[in-house]
Amino acid sequence: MVGAGAAGLATAIFARRFNRSPSVVLLDGARKPGAKILVSGGSRCNVTNATVTERDFWGGRPSIVRRVLRSFTVDETVAFFREIGVRLHEEAGGKLFPDTNRARDVLEALLRELGRVGATLVPGRRVLGVERSAGGFRLSTDGGDLQAAAVVLATGGRSLPKTGSDGAGLTIATRLGHTIVPATPALAPLVLAPEDSVHRELSGVSHDVELAVRVDGAIAVRLAGALLWTHFGVSGPVSLNASRHWLRAQLEGRPVSITANVRAGAPFEEVDAEWRQLAIASPRASIQTTLATMVPASVAAAFLRQLAIDGAVALAHVPRDDRRRLLNALVAWPLPVVATRGYNYAEATAGGVPLTEIDPATMASRCCPRLHCVGEMLDVDGRIGGFNFQWAWSSGFVAGRAVASGAAR
Ligand SMILES: Cc1cc2nc3c(=O)[nH]c(=O)nc-3n(C[C@H](O)[C@H](O)[C@H](O)COP(=O)(O)OP(=O)(O)OC[C@H]3O[C@@H](n4cnc5c(N)ncnc54)[C@H](O)[C@@H]3O)c2cc1C
Repeated sequence: MVGAGAAGLATAIFARRFNRSPSVVLLDGARKPGAKILVSGGSRCNVTNATVTERDFWGGRPSIVRRVLRSFTVDETVAFFREIGVRLHEEAGGKLFPDTNRARDVLEALLRELGRVGATLVPGRRVLGVERSAGGFRLSTDGGDLQAAAVVLATGGRSLPKTGSDGAGLTIATRLGHTIVPATPALAPLVLAPEDSVHRELSGVSHDVELAVRVDGAIAVRLAGALLWTHFGVSGPVSLNASRHWLRAQLEGRPVSITANVRAGAPFEEVDAEWRQLAIASPRASIQTTLATMVPASVAAAFLRQLAIDGAVALAHVPRDDRRRLLNALVAWPLPVVATRGYNYAEATAGGVPLTEIDPATMASRCCPRLHCVGEMLDVDGRIGGFNFQWAWSSGFVAGRAVASGAAR
């Protein structure tokens, strides 16, 4: 097996749990594998989510994602971690974290279980190439060649390349006959044009919004959640979730724009009606104080300054044009995205090995017999909330079970 991240560790553990006969060797280029588990969830590791369905993922065909997720469910994941000594608890948004709040405990439990089931971990051993050979495969590594009857690629995507996940596995998969859906960062912060944006003055402020990502002029996706203004642009769950949509459109050369609705996605007419009622109920209240009941006061002030609207004016005296401009801004505040912060800051990768080239019952390649692919190297990327790890556990379970039963074709 190539790669000892979440997906590789799961694959190796389940392969040995199902069948102790074949030897399982897990090669990883990193001296200390599991770096991404350690940094995940702010070093607390958001292991999974209370509810995970194919709708929490983008990329390949949802029916294939569903099939894999149903083979190893959240309940089974929670039970597995309990068995290996990691109890999980639920937090906001259904996120499940270890009770100890230490990602290190998750990694250590997985490594302990790997040892208990008798799989061999070889850290600091980078796989340079994989070729088909008479007995299965020949793997060339920076520590010499190896033979294997079956190979599982669990090399991750390209996000956080300093951990060792640099996309090399995608090249190996290509050489073994796979096509690759072009990769882009996913779950990456968005960089905004400084001259057109209020982000610098709002750096550190967070509030809920609904983002609308427009591709070719039509809304392609709406995403709700917390937005965090930063010195470079925007971050926070909703911005991270939006990044892959912006990048995929850019990749395809399609015009894309993002706007933020600070009124929970309400349409203009609804916000207008609400504003008129407020003007009747509190005609002397100023625009600024009224707005500050809807968004943080600093956001209210920045929006008004950007729109050149006098916030001191009482609601009863707001010119019609100003009211319309303000309310339009509240439902569709433009975020002038010029880039994302890229793979170094991305939590996941979109694109990779197409799901249609994988048998979801075994994670076996349809292009190369006795090869399996798992985890983030596949064309699946989950939203923020523990979904990417669930994909790693579920796909690892499916591949491990298949390798153990010799189901590879
Ligand atoms: C900062 C950050 C926080 C995150 N937080 C969360 C979270 O809380 N919850 C969540 O669900 N997801 C989270 N994610 C996403 C999640 O970590 C990944 O989706 C998941 O780790 C992918 O697992 P993987 O095993 O497929 O790949 P990886 O974890 O990337 O592991 C791949 C492994 O393969 C090795 N490798 C690569 N190429 C070779 C080669 N040629 N030879 C040998 N070894 C090789 C690498 O060294 C690496 O160890 C986070 C990601 C980041 C970057």
